[in-house]
Amino acid sequence: MRYISAIILTVLATTSMAAIAKDTINIYSYRQPFLIQPFIDAYQDKNDVTINVIFAKRGLVQRLRAEGRNSPADLVLTVDIARIHQFADAGLLQPVRSEILATNIPVNLRAEDDTWFGLSRRARVIVISKAAGDIADLRDYEDLADPKWQGRLCSRPGSHVYNRALMASMIAAHGAEAAQSWAEKLVANLARKPQGNDRAQAKAIFQGICDVAIMNSYYYGNMKFNDDAEQRSWADAIRLVFTNQADRGNHINISGGGVAKHSRNKQQAVAFLEFLTGEVAQQLYGTVNYEYPVNPAVTPPAELASWGPFKRDKLPIERLAELAPQAQMIIDRVGW
Ligand code: FE
Repeated sequence: MRYISAIILTVLATTSMAAIAKDTINIYSYRQPFLIQPFIDAYQDKNDVTINVIFAKRGLVQRLRAEGRNSPADLVLTVDIARIHQFADAGLLQPVRSEILATNIPVNLRAEDDTWFGLSRRARVIVISKAAGDIADLRDYEDLADPKWQGRLCSRPGSHVYNRALMASMIAAHGAEAAQSWAEKLVANLARKPQGNDRAQAKAIFQGICDVAIMNSYYYGNMKFNDDAEQRSWADAIRLVFTNQADRGNHINISGGGVAKHSRNKQQAVAFLEFLTGEVAQQLYGTVNYEYPVNPAVTPPAELASWGPFKRDKLPIERLAELAPQAQMIIDRVGW
């Protein structure tokens, strides 16, 4: 996948020169443009509206704050609950009362004060080498602390938001002390210094560097159907383990969004948010990026469904954001 570094990129999405749209939605996004464009195209098929996307890898909270009342932003889209929460914490989002959003999004995946909304579900799972004979011993995140995996585990750095949220979920489940002890043992099992992104862990399994890793499940789909044969071979080397099926369910994170505090097109922004939670868009999250719908009435596309149904952690997702600073302290302490 392409990486667009710190450059801020503006994508003007217009259907045709003839359609001079009356309405505009300006989106500030931490989500990559190629992941958003299919949703914009689907929306513009039915709606005469201009949608502009300002993408950045970082700094959007600061930018919104600096712009204040003059901000052109109508909508904020991000991945990871803690990042959405930063906007809400800074008072940069406004509450949205919408029957449609309340119906389409489970209560644990949206803000109590209606400032942000989960739009897709992302499962962080354990992956294990197909060549490993002992997959049955790996059921729960807790199992990663077992010394039997010593020298067999690979991980990206703990301080990445994905692992920080996972760490937060362990604190929520067991308390800080037990969670730290788990993290210490996990680190002791590492085959190499934490490095690389999620895909790099699958690659390491393919290369025989380790047998077990942690990965967001959508990367499996992205690698399995990649144009690059090398990535397809990484996917082919692993199996997914949906964890904690006998207790709380697999750890979940979200992509989400909210309406900017000073939006001048609130009605349009809310309508687009509502569209993102409806049947068409919820299916798109699955086909575009192998993410799961939040809307319980929508069944995931066939490929996603084929990975198996699984029990999901029902923890109010907001807890992950609240516990993120504590999670980071533990991560630093144990050197993950
Ligand atoms: Fe990702």
